[in-house]
Amino acid sequence: MNLQERDKAVIWHPFTHKQSSPLPIPIIKGEGVYLIDENNRRYIDVISSWWVTLHGHAHPYIAEKIYEQAKTLEQVIFAGFTHKPAIELAERLLPLLPGNFAKIFYSDNGSTSTEVGLKMALQYWWNQEKHADVNHPKRNKVLAFNNSYHGDTFGAMSVSDRSVFTKAFHDKLFEVIFIDTPSANNIKEIQSVIRSEGNAIAAFIYEPLLQGAGGMKMYEAGLLNELLTTVKEYGILCIADEVMTGFGRTGKLFASTYAEAQPDIICLSKGLTGGTMALGVTAATQKIADAFDSSDKMKTFFHGHSFTANPLACTAALASLDLLQQENTLHNIECIVAIHREFIEQLKHSTTPLPIKNIRQMGTIIAFEIDRGKDEYLNNISAIITQRALEKGVYMRPLGNTVYLMPPYCITEKELKLVYSVILEIITSI
Ligand code: PMP
Repeated sequence: MNLQERDKAVIWHPFTHKQSSPLPIPIIKGEGVYLIDENNRRYIDVISSWWVTLHGHAHPYIAEKIYEQAKTLEQVIFAGFTHKPAIELAERLLPLLPGNFAKIFYSDNGSTSTEVGLKMALQYWWNQEKHADVNHPKRNKVLAFNNSYHGDTFGAMSVSDRSVFTKAFHDKLFEVIFIDTPSANNIKEIQSVIRSEGNAIAAFIYEPLLQGAGGMKMYEAGLLNELLTTVKEYGILCIADEVMTGFGRTGKLFASTYAEAQPDIICLSKGLTGGTMALGVTAATQKIADAFDSSDKMKTFFHGHSFTANPLACTAALASLDLLQQENTLHNIECIVAIHREFIEQLKHSTTPLPIKNIRQMGTIIAFEIDRGKDEYLNNISAIITQRALEKGVYMRPLGNTVYLMPPYCITEKELKLVYSVILEIITSI
């Protein structure tokens, strides 16, 4: 049996409608921007393998560091024990984060990082209220954006938009106050929702500036700032989900940096390890950490995962930070931003048989939609584009009718231009 047949017999793939999906392509090697299949065909991975790969696949520097660590300490329970990679990573991350963060809590992935953030924020208020006077208003509501995505576990699903992803579980998700992302037209209305519910809201969770899985929807930093300012007037804890936007994707190290008002909790994953290992980080301010620092054992944060702060993952993250902070990586990010900008202009002025709308860019990410009418996520345009691009040596995976690029930072100008030409060819031939 070949790999595809063996896979078909035993594997259940994520986000995959089996009956309409082609068999998965066996990949035997990764090399820089390329994924290489068993027939030696090379695909430029222009979505960084679900937005994780920062410096290219199988980066020798990160691989070497993981190998060294694996020979030394591969895993240790993180309650009652600690280790250098976890400490060093926290020491290096904290000063880089936007805002004033004091503590790093480790977990395994993006969903767990947002679960942890939500639980921290809710228990922050619970810990205060336990001994507060009875007239103290109860803070247990959560505020989130329509069209948001924060992960696939139940808490993360609850604060995510009610969509095709969550439909089977709607009766099991906790209630959330949903608001639209801010625009010049709706900001006053959103602020009045916050003013009316403010004292009952424990936390606001948001993807700063860019809603990824919701279709690469972008909104302005100035408006986010206005919104956060109002939210903070009510003491609501702000949880920035930078799982996708973190580590340079938006052109700055973190998207939150574009706004003045800063979060109280920040969630990171994906690019954290350069995309090599699963790791989640939830950073908290001193104020939040203090609310758990008590002689009362009931105020403990009773949360943890078997692989919390896995030494290999922390080592990979440290190696990825080394690479990210190198001059040439920062230069590459700037180049991608500039080259994308030229392509965006070209795209805006090209005529295509299929109408294209909302051509947009944020840092190293560009996106546009193909106008296909209703039921955008479930229609088959994504599969058609993915297939045609693969035939031309490019891997992308549109979100429904939203085509986007989010390349690893090692992509060259030549490779980017090849990707653009493939996109133009596809959209003019569909
Ligand atoms: N938050 C955001 C903003 C995300 O984009 C994602 C993943 N697409 C997640 C959380 C969940 O991350 P993971 O898939 O690692 O659980």
